[in-house]
Amino acid sequence: MSIAIAIDGPAGAGKSTLSRKVAEELSFIYVDTGALYRTIGLAAARKNINKEDTNGIVSILSEIKIELAFNDEGAQIVLLNGEDVSGLIRTPEASMYASAVSAVPEVRAFLLDLQRNIAKSENVIMDGRDIGTVVLPDAKVKIFLTASAETRAMRRYKENIEKGIDCRYEEVLRDVNERDYKDIHRDIAPLKPADDSITLDTSELDFEGSKQLILKTIKENI
Ligand code: C5P
Repeated sequence: MSIAIAIDGPAGAGKSTLSRKVAEELSFIYVDTGALYRTIGLAAARKNINKEDTNGIVSILSEIKIELAFNDEGAQIVLLNGEDVSGLIRTPEASMYASAVSAVPEVRAFLLDLQRNIAKSENVIMDGRDIGTVVLPDAKVKIFLTASAETRAMRRYKENIEKGIDCRYEEVLRDVNERDYKDIHRDIAPLKPADDSITLDTSELDFEGSKQLILKTIKENI
């Protein structure tokens, strides 16, 4: 039997970077489910489908095939109809589209089996918003990773400045609060901790401290 670990939480809590590192240490496969929503978002953007056009978004599902592969370093590669789109899905446009398509029930249903099938055959750390609640309700360990909106905004602000992206902290904080609101209040698969999840707040921790806390939590509960 393979082991599944679910890590959910709001945008900017450091889920993907931390999950990737923790998976490396445990020799598990890391599955970034946000990449799947981003890929459908990219497909919709390429077809010039309006973000509000639910029927248009649903109509492209029959034309697309999404596959996940892993390179020699264990990094996830996502294929859209055979094309490696791993880099292309990281643009701000793809993020906006990902957010729009992720609210469409047919899109979530479309991605469900793909996510579940990976967890059937491999030991996985899967990160997202609804992994512990919907995708893998039987996951061995469920972590809800969070940090205060101010901390998450400050981390993102510093990242942007380091990358040379000009921005104001107040604007980043407003975006973080907006995304939280949308994720928490959407009708389908809203962001919320699973009843049996363990909430870890990393507001007061640095990267290494957060990683150690996750590893300890997993080892104690596996
Ligand atoms: O995590 P990331 O920012 O890459 O996710 C992209 C988008 O996909 C987000 O807007 C998020 O709401 C959505 N998403 C989701 N369910 C998941 C993973 C991501 O709705 N399991």
